[in-house]
Amino acid sequence: MSCLFCRIIDGSIPSKAVYQDDKCYAFADIRPQAPVHVLVVPRQHITSIADAEKEHGALMGHLLWAAAEIARFKGLTSGYRTVINTGEDGGQTVDHVHVHLLGGRPLTWPPG
Ligand code: AMP
Ligand code: ZN
Repeated sequence: MSCLFCRIIDGSIPSKAVYQDDKCYAFADIRPQAPVHVLVVPRQHITSIADAEKEHGALMGHLLWAAAEIARFKGLTSGYRTVINTGEDGGQTVDHVHVHLLGGRPLTWPPG
């Protein structure tokens, strides 16, 4: 299995777990861009939201719910940002769909 995030999920590459359940795994980003920078990934390998099927809708929604739950227990009461990069122009570097949860500082807009 060559997918980096599948290997993180199965434990063959170490990560710092933040939250997990039967559908998703969340871990600290190795190059944090904010005081809180967590990646939420589905246990099922889906390359990107561009590759998600209608049947994956509930799972995609679960990732957003998990990001909000993590933000709650991280105490991000002032707000936070969730980001899903898709494809080359979107800046996606790991081809296993993931939600970035960024918080703990004011975030500028628009992104680059
Ligand atoms: P993206 O550019 O949206 O595909 O995001 C991929 C993210 O994965 C980047 O923020 C990387 O810093 C992060 N990343 C890459 N390798 C690892 C790793 N081994 N553990 C944790 N995060 C990683
Ligand atoms: Zn994968």
